[in-house]
Amino acid sequence: ETAPPQALTALHDTFGFPAFRGVQEQVVARVLDGRSTLAVMPTGAGKSLTYQLPAVMLEGTCVVVSPLIALMHDQLRSATANGIRAATLTSADSDREVTIERFRNGELDLLYVAPERASQSHFRDLLSRARVSLFAIDEAHCVSEWGHDFRPDYRLLRPLLDSFPQVPRLALTATADAHTRADILAQLGIPDDGLIVAGFDRPNIRYAIRPRDSLQRQLKSLLDEHSGPGIIYAPTRARVEQLAEQLSAGGRRVLPYHAGLDPAVRARNQAAFVASEDMVMVATVAFGMGIDKPDVRFVAHAGIPKSIEAYYQETGRAGRDGDPSVAVMLWGAEDFARARQRLSEVEEHRRASERQRLDALAALVETAQCRRAILLRHFGEDPPQTCGNCDNCLEPAGVTDLTQLARKLLSAVFRTGQSFGLGHLEKVLTGQSDDRVLQRGHDQLSVFGIVGSEEAPLLKPIARALQARGSLVPTEHGGLALGGNAREILKGEAAVEIVVPPAKSKGDRRRKQR
Ligand code: ADP
Ligand code: ZN
Repeated sequence: ETAPPQALTALHDTFGFPAFRGVQEQVVARVLDGRSTLAVMPTGAGKSLTYQLPAVMLEGTCVVVSPLIALMHDQLRSATANGIRAATLTSADSDREVTIERFRNGELDLLYVAPERASQSHFRDLLSRARVSLFAIDEAHCVSEWGHDFRPDYRLLRPLLDSFPQVPRLALTATADAHTRADILAQLGIPDDGLIVAGFDRPNIRYAIRPRDSLQRQLKSLLDEHSGPGIIYAPTRARVEQLAEQLSAGGRRVLPYHAGLDPAVRARNQAAFVASEDMVMVATVAFGMGIDKPDVRFVAHAGIPKSIEAYYQETGRAGRDGDPSVAVMLWGAEDFARARQRLSEVEEHRRASERQRLDALAALVETAQCRRAILLRHFGEDPPQTCGNCDNCLEPAGVTDLTQLARKLLSAVFRTGQSFGLGHLEKVLTGQSDDRVLQRGHDQLSVFGIVGSEEAPLLKPIARALQARGSLVPTEHGGLALGGNAREILKGEAAVEIVVPPAKSKGDRRRKQR
């Protein structure tokens, strides 16, 4: 589908772009035609243009629903900079009366609002007394319980949209698997043929996912290898502070960013990062939304992200300029253990989908196959089996059947009463009798000393894999207990294959050659 020539003129005149990118034209053409649409486009693909351009061309105002005030204000700034007549209507704005006047007088191309406004009857009245050209629903996955970021307020939109049946709807999201997509269409009343999906591949990003052995050392070598700007995502504020301080010692400018910092400091650190050519930002996931920095050369995860969607979105902040960039995830068994524990706190009706999300992430982390292929398949694409630009394609890892060793470990967990940590279990299995082993009589168990010196180094990797898969789960006091399909493994009904990372020596030799 091609957009009318006036659209191209507006693209030049208002935005200064010579051409549409990817599916932008298709989306704009549909919207100008008055047909409701769900556009699934990866971060950086240029979603905002798909409603801002029609907003400029169509008679009336495009009402944009957006979940975060900070995001709205970023959008407002860039729209205003392009000469678009735009305003936000939020509790944080003091000029609400002026905005309402402008809206009613038809003097706005764009009006940004938060979803909770949709349920207010006076907002509906306001809309009926003005002219609305288009409803744009940003971050539309928030409407779906299958999405990774469900917001109940988004459910309130449908009645509002339905009371303006002649106004087309444009839903936008960067992160939606097939299930979530179908749900967004249904929830927002968009016909199935209104789905437009952009290609998700980011060929210039090299993906690597490794177990975390020494986080600080691993990150330091990452910093040594990449001189350009980078982001390191850490799971907690405390960890952010700590890593920023430790890594600063290397001489590179490294600053922290998290929601607990003073707003002025946060803004200053963000501005420094955007302007810098070599700075590293250690941040919680609060950082990155709405930041337009094209030359980020690496994104590292110091722990697992929330989901594949979150991983894709966060790593997608690297290399928007198209130059080679890397995404490195450093994961530990305890990340999955904690995430699985948190499942019990999730509301019951969401637990199944959260568990699926975690299993999908574990599969990506644990695979010996091409990472990119798995990512793209997750987003409904049909990619080639190998990409040549991820760790598994570049240094093929082996898959080893470790079912027997897994059974020994699980059986030791069971026989010691499902309350000891891996350190103790290793001692029992390899036949080292320290005080605690003797005190508990664990030297008398049938599993004592059944793991030889050749297998012993594999106990940690197998424990990690079993925890990622949920076959081993943590107890309250830091021990390990059986979970998931552990009993099937013990009975010999399920096999356990794990990915063996390429031998260390190989990597070391290569590094020396360089
Ligand atoms: P998204 O919301 O999908 O992450 P944005 O709307 O923020 O993406 O756009 C990402 C970047 O791409 C912005 O800097 C924007 O100005 C730029 N951009 C969007 N459309 C085009 C285009 N047709 N040509 C060139 N640059 C574009
Ligand atoms: Zn690959």
